[in-house]
Amino acid sequence: MRLQDELEELQPVVINLFKRSKRENRLSHGYLFSGPSGVGKKRMALWLAQSLFCLEQTSEIFACSECVNCTRIANDNHPDVHWLAPDGASIKIDQVRGIRSELIKQGMESNKKVLIIDEADKMTVQSANSLLKFIEEPEEGTLLLFLTTNPAKILPTIASRLQPVTFRELPFDQLVKKLEQVGISEQKVRIFASITGSIKEAEQLNEDEFFSEARNASIKLYEGLHHNGPNPLIFIQETWMPLFKEKKGMAMGLDLLLLLYRDVLHLMLNENYTVISASQIEWLKRDALQFSLPEITREIEAVLEAKTKLDSNMNAQLLMEQLVLKLQGGHGFA
Ligand SMILES: [Zn+2]
Repeated sequence: MRLQDELEELQPVVINLFKRSKRENRLSHGYLFSGPSGVGKKRMALWLAQSLFCLEQTSEIFACSECVNCTRIANDNHPDVHWLAPDGASIKIDQVRGIRSELIKQGMESNKKVLIIDEADKMTVQSANSLLKFIEEPEEGTLLLFLTTNPAKILPTIASRLQPVTFRELPFDQLVKKLEQVGISEQKVRIFASITGSIKEAEQLNEDEFFSEARNASIKLYEGLHHNGPNPLIFIQETWMPLFKEKKGMAMGLDLLLLLYRDVLHLMLNENYTVISASQIEWLKRDALQFSLPEITREIEAVLEAKTKLDSNMNAQLLMEQLVLKLQGGHGFA
């Protein structure tokens, strides 16, 4: 699939903004791309750079993805397109110095130059300041693209001179499709798509041992509460608490538990609903027949309340025990 077509699906608002700006010949000299990881910021930057140099451009196709220039830019092999990314934890002044001298030079093959800074929030203050000149007194034909998942961390002196462009999270169905394409198993795609809006994060979760343990723990707890699983209070003490020593991890455990209750609720409301937890579909369907609507609503509220309390200073084990008692009060079917 051509990059432009992919981006039209992924970020239609953003790409249309750029198409319009290019048609009207009023592309700005600097943009700040923000949005979660894996939603197309880097690909948009690549496409935009290609669109400045593409040899096969038409009034509709701004970058063909195939000509010599598009290919060189995609392979980071074009003398007038520069990428900058953190070397270790930050983007250091030495890295920026090299790029600066490139930017000052005449364009190698044209009068246009592009600098794309990935994870721009990781620039040291020094690095950022050394680029200020290019942002304050933009040179004709120079395009600076700052990419970040964390726009609040971009120095205000920089951010205020860039045009902000916000990338949306992917819609659920589209995310599911993309996750299937990157090879995540059918059993898992809907779970990841529910937990994160980003393909990259989903791929990380897919590799993450802790995530599968957390997922198993949430299923075991649910089984203990509503089926023939382990005694929930003992399970909390012996397995849940040792696994979720940190609040962040436990929040994930509760999110995963919540997914199971939400599946039951949706199955009650719509028999054609595609469950998120596909491997549990048999007992989720059974539960959908057993729970009443007020019961399932109460269970969901109890889990949400526990999640909120996690942020307070309440003892985590006590919080979980209270949750178990509430959830048991709902319905216990063997
Ligand atoms: Zn091209």
